[in-house]
Amino acid sequence: MLGSIEAGGTKMNCAIGDEHGNIFKQAQFPTTMPEQNMQQFIEFFQANPVDAIGVGTFGPVNVDRQSELYGTILDTPKLAWRFFPFLQTLKANLNIPIELQSDVNVAALGEAACGAGKHDRTVLYITIGTGIGGGVVTDKQFLRSVQHPEMGHVWIKRTPEDTTPSNCPFHTDCFEGLASGPAIEKRHNTNAKNLPADHPAWELEANYIAQGVYQMMLAHGPDRIIIGGGVMNQPQLLPNIKRNIKTQLNGYTYYPALANLEDTIVLPKLGDNAGLVGGLVFAGQIKKMK
Ligand code: ADP
Ligand code: ZN
Repeated sequence: MLGSIEAGGTKMNCAIGDEHGNIFKQAQFPTTMPEQNMQQFIEFFQANPVDAIGVGTFGPVNVDRQSELYGTILDTPKLAWRFFPFLQTLKANLNIPIELQSDVNVAALGEAACGAGKHDRTVLYITIGTGIGGGVVTDKQFLRSVQHPEMGHVWIKRTPEDTTPSNCPFHTDCFEGLASGPAIEKRHNTNAKNLPADHPAWELEANYIAQGVYQMMLAHGPDRIIIGGGVMNQPQLLPNIKRNIKTQLNGYTYYPALANLEDTIVLPKLGDNAGLVGGLVFAGQIKKMK
């Protein structure tokens, strides 16, 4: 039996299941204080013993396996969690192999192994929600870099008409600052959900998402691109993003995925389960590593 933990800003999820991402039992708790949430995870896995656990957490978080701070949450705005030793606390209480990665990398693994990228070799996964993040999974493995990717902060070219300040405190013109859900809300003074499908906001949003995806696509050479997150619940966005990417490519089609964007770029298949499923797949890999 394998275990999975998905630590989010508002909810904590955990599950037991198998390496194919099948969930047998799961539990959810509100995100509160780290000590309380750790106790809830520990009790869950004491009652439901597993051989290994894969953790995906909100960040920023240290994912460098050679660092003494591996598994420690870094400088998050959630003060109680700042510099909390997430992985170390679990390991001290559960005597099994446990590894930790960013929530986006683990969700990317879930989609790549069991969802929309199941039959593909290199999957680029990008999520457009409260924040923007992305990950790359090749042969069902995410990059085990010293840091997790920060695709949400790549530079985007603004349209001249768009004068709304960026929603990112660090960058005037980054992907997350211009195209996340809260960035749309800042520009139009209403939640993105409330904007009708024919609102010009969606033309601009498709342009910005296309720019971010285009750059990550050319950087990584995926054969599948999965774009998810709450903002993608607008069905008019996906075709419009593809149209914008085609315009940017301007006929440059050296590999099949570029020539066939219509099939290459898709929505996720696992919905809210991507993180938990990815954690189980990750746990299966951790078990084999030991
Ligand atoms: P999170 O990123 O917090 O994990 P989500 O991926 O659900 O959560 O993203 C939340 C964001 O998605 C919010 O900014 C919200 O405004 C936006 N959103 C949710 N549903 C829709 C929708 N139907 N249309 C447009 N935007 C939406
Ligand atoms: Zn930024």
